[in-house]
Amino acid sequence: MRVLLVEDDPMIGNVVQQALRDASYAVDWVRDGSSALTTLAALRYDLVLLDLGLPRIDGMAVLQALRTASNDVPVLVLSARDATHDRVAGLDGGADDYLVKPFVMSELLARMRALTRRKQGSASPALSNGALVLDPATHEASIDGAPVRLTAREFSLLQALLQRPGAILSRAELEHRIYGWNEEVESNAVEFLIHALRKKLGSATIKNVRGVGWMVSKAQ
Ligand code: CA
Repeated sequence: MRVLLVEDDPMIGNVVQQALRDASYAVDWVRDGSSALTTLAALRYDLVLLDLGLPRIDGMAVLQALRTASNDVPVLVLSARDATHDRVAGLDGGADDYLVKPFVMSELLARMRALTRRKQGSASPALSNGALVLDPATHEASIDGAPVRLTAREFSLLQALLQRPGAILSRAELEHRIYGWNEEVESNAVEFLIHALRKKLGSATIKNVRGVGWMVSKAQ
């Protein structure tokens, strides 16, 4: 899951970025509204965390520009503006959710999971495909009910594949979903993770389409 954090306060930005990384998100962080729009025009994100009081272009204007451009990325506003009319304006302006600062990290993470599953058209908290189940809240996987322990990166990769069963994801796409800007990626990192996941979940779980990428077949 790749997240864009738009936040000009260095302390809040650092805390949120670290917490999201600890929760296995790939996080990119920009500090003003103009950079947010440039980045969102160039790259695809699963979710945007948007502060409102931002240098150069205000968060509400960023939101408006995104929606005017028909960019439907889920946006969760994080703002100290706590008046009812601010929250109403944010939601009516195209935000999918609005969390007032200061907030508790566990609530932010839960709201992010809720937005993500709604975007995928699911109300169920777990991702499942046949015998395989992955719980984004606990990061636990199970196959035929038997629990399987995954590392943070293994979880991220499996989540990316399970979100789109039947779709082939290229190496570049998987790297984009797993690693943020400042994280070093070994050239064969994706292969290592796939190898580890197959060992844990059975070799048939993830299919390789030679020269194209990897997929999880849609269970019948
Ligand atoms: Ca701010």
